[in-house]
Amino acid sequence: MATQVELAVKGTITPQMKEIALAEGLDPETIRARFAEGQIVAPIGVNHRHQVVGMGRGLSTKINASIGTSTDIVDIAAEVRKAQAAQAAGADTLMELSVGGDLDKVRREVLAAVSLPVGNVPLYQAFCEAARKYGDPNKLDEGMLFDLIERQCADGIAFMAVHCGINLYTIERLEKQHYRYGGLVSKGGTTMVAWMKKNHRENPLYEKFDRVVEILKKYDVVLSLGNGLRAGAIHDSFDRAMIQELLINCELAQIGREMGCQMMVEGPGHVPLDEIEANIILQKRMSNHAPYYMLGPIPCDVTAGYDHITAAIGAAQSARYGADLICYITPAEHLALPNERDVVEGVKAARVAAYIGDTAKYPERGRRRDMAMSKARRDSNWNKQYELALFSADAQAIRSERSPSDSRACTMCGEFCANRGSMEVFGHLLAGTAKA
Ligand code: SF4
Repeated sequence: MATQVELAVKGTITPQMKEIALAEGLDPETIRARFAEGQIVAPIGVNHRHQVVGMGRGLSTKINASIGTSTDIVDIAAEVRKAQAAQAAGADTLMELSVGGDLDKVRREVLAAVSLPVGNVPLYQAFCEAARKYGDPNKLDEGMLFDLIERQCADGIAFMAVHCGINLYTIERLEKQHYRYGGLVSKGGTTMVAWMKKNHRENPLYEKFDRVVEILKKYDVVLSLGNGLRAGAIHDSFDRAMIQELLINCELAQIGREMGCQMMVEGPGHVPLDEIEANIILQKRMSNHAPYYMLGPIPCDVTAGYDHITAAIGAAQSARYGADLICYITPAEHLALPNERDVVEGVKAARVAAYIGDTAKYPERGRRRDMAMSKARRDSNWNKQYELALFSADAQAIRSERSPSDSRACTMCGEFCANRGSMEVFGHLLAGTAKA
């Protein structure tokens, strides 16, 4: 089937493009042109009915939640519940990242349970299967890897993080800089680097990039160029190895797009707050504004237990400067496999970050809701406040737990409610246009 990029290049405005235009309040022709340029993508895939989610230039920032078993905790029912909880909490996309148990079964059950576009990282299952079959993940052969990628696409995966940008030259940069403060922190990246070193071979995902693209194109799956050398410590942000991988990924994004595949680039990691903007400028300039899928970033290394908040601070900045899809971080980051409560907390923190980022990225359209909320607060219109709140049920629950004696106020200031008091003094000034 023709991909969204191929159709856009031919001048076709697809139903997906129309739906994105409607949802974002933009002109369908603008959306088509940006698909053609590779600046907007929408995970499509086959055999899984899911929502249309556009990501990229001029669109609202989307958020991803990742779930999946580990080698220590394998509970498929729990992963399905986490996937559904992520969707209910407002995730736009889901990544199924299992490495424990029957990986085909987990993927298929999660796909059946949600109506979000589902992504994954094929290297996880590839190395797991090689370890089970040969007793050594480094015995993975490339035929097995490409067959697996196709199997996952055929199951309904709609976007795939593929670690194509790690090559021998990238590893040489890592060695010449004498490794890192924080080591390597990407599972896919680390296993691929180990495979290359043990086998003295080039990364097949880089060497046979055309083959990766052809498989994903066949299913119109978005190829998200994995960030295998992302920094796991703020001191490693912008090191030469990480920049080398980013540069290659931006180059591959162009090649893939010219081949007709939907392409996205992945980024950080741990990055100090003052370096986030530069990271995004680099990616956007080097890739001609390919959609940027950003993990956080986490702008400091010392907040375990609260890394969802730390990451939200970084993500608000990254959304502001142009990140298009934010991968959430949960309170369990760096500590344990997230449970359902962690997933919900992580999604909500990321939603806050994306929302705040968009109020700065698109000030004209991004602040209308804030304006309406300000007026509802001023007017003590609680129903309107609930309607406008990002987390309406949570807001209502807190207020109803501690009900005030005066329904116009809340129990914070009670009879000294500033809103009520100031409206009694100044409310008459709103008789004109300001009341609207
Ligand atoms: S009581 Fe205080 S916090 Fe509550 S609505 Fe009035 S001004 Fe706001």
